[in-house]
Amino acid sequence: MLLGAIADDFTGATDLCSMLVRGGMRTVQLIGVPEPELPTPDADAVVVALKSRTAPTAQAVEESLAALRWLQAAGARQFFFKYCSTFDSTDQGNIGPVADALIAALGCGFALACPAFPTNARTVYQGHLFVGGSLLNESGMEHHPLTPMTDANLVRVLSRQTEGTVGLVAFAAVDRGANAIRDAMTQLKERGRRYAIVDAITDAHLAAIGEAAANHALITGGSGVAMALPENFRRAGLLSRTTDPGVLPPIEGACAVIAGSCSRTTLAQLGYARSHLPTFELDALATPDAAALSEAALAWAADKIGHKPVVIAASAPPDKVAALQSRLGRDQAGALIENAVAKIAEGLLVRGVRKFVVAGGETSGAVVRRLGVRSMRIGTEIDPGVPWTFAEAGKTATGGSGPGLMLALKSGNFGASDFFLKAFRVLEA
Ligand code: ADP
Repeated sequence: MLLGAIADDFTGATDLCSMLVRGGMRTVQLIGVPEPELPTPDADAVVVALKSRTAPTAQAVEESLAALRWLQAAGARQFFFKYCSTFDSTDQGNIGPVADALIAALGCGFALACPAFPTNARTVYQGHLFVGGSLLNESGMEHHPLTPMTDANLVRVLSRQTEGTVGLVAFAAVDRGANAIRDAMTQLKERGRRYAIVDAITDAHLAAIGEAAANHALITGGSGVAMALPENFRRAGLLSRTTDPGVLPPIEGACAVIAGSCSRTTLAQLGYARSHLPTFELDALATPDAAALSEAALAWAADKIGHKPVVIAASAPPDKVAALQSRLGRDQAGALIENAVAKIAEGLLVRGVRKFVVAGGETSGAVVRRLGVRSMRIGTEIDPGVPWTFAEAGKTATGGSGPGLMLALKSGNFGASDFFLKAFRVLEA
């Protein structure tokens, strides 16, 4: 194993896996902290997917350190902490506290932080994160149900979350290439900075940043900055040029979409899907009960499964999310929905669904756990950052042994407007 990564949510983990597969690394995603006795997968990169983005900070730190220890024992040469390209976090963390703990455990003293992903319109300039043409705090992310992002200045955002200090490698250095970036990072480290937010506007910038960090024990960021890592390993003679890392076994079975993301992108994708596919929307305000919501959805789906893909959505616009949150509290509202969609996923599995598209990071975490998935092999990309994956048989929460599954875990903000149709079209091709 060359690269050992820890991702703070499930869609983020598959996004990173997809990037590494594109670079020619055979990649496996493990769900949750691996059991100590789990055999090391036959892969160049292993990405441990945690659900730590919004977990209590102490738990996020503890799980991340446990994942690090497993990856170290499995022989990884370099480590990556993957978080969202929109830097999803609160003033309490968990990006800063987890990165602090990983830096301390590795004894490296310093790490770069770069969430940029230009392919998906996330860029960082003068330390400010943009989503398309908008600053992060004007991009819709200020309404995120769990991690509202109200400040686009990442030096400030990360400073509030860490005991260390944060510097900036600004565009002028980044644009001069890998050597200039390496020099700027060395200077920041020598001046006692624990982190460098690194500007990046293009893939060429990401490639240069990755090259500059070839010898870093730890890299933190979005999947974009991992773009150059396969080439680093190849240059060092550690990775062959010939692997075809993305071929998955074919699977029979019905198709479903489960959506819990409330991002603008997902709401638009649902709008498009509604006119092409049978769609059911959970009304959590009218029925704030997970069991009743899932029963209603499954009863609706019963005679539709197996014909066209069925779409079941909890997703709602900001005013409806706010209404549910003011009634139940933010965490309770999220937990209610996540519990409901997890039950729905399990019910769909029992009824023959084997190909799932899940929209939303937290939502994917809830679904994947309930389906008992422990490990996923990464295949073809549907849209940037969202691959189909093959999940080995897992044990479902109800105790039965689960069948093999195809899963596409979509970060809320990712994918084109026809994503939910395209995902299944890609499988037929
Ligand atoms: P994203 O990838 O867009 O961040 P997530 O699934 O990570 O999506 O987060 C969305 C959160 O919003 C989840 O915790 C989900 O349970 C919650 N949620 C979904 N629908 C609603 C709703 N109608 N009201 C309140 N919260 C909701």
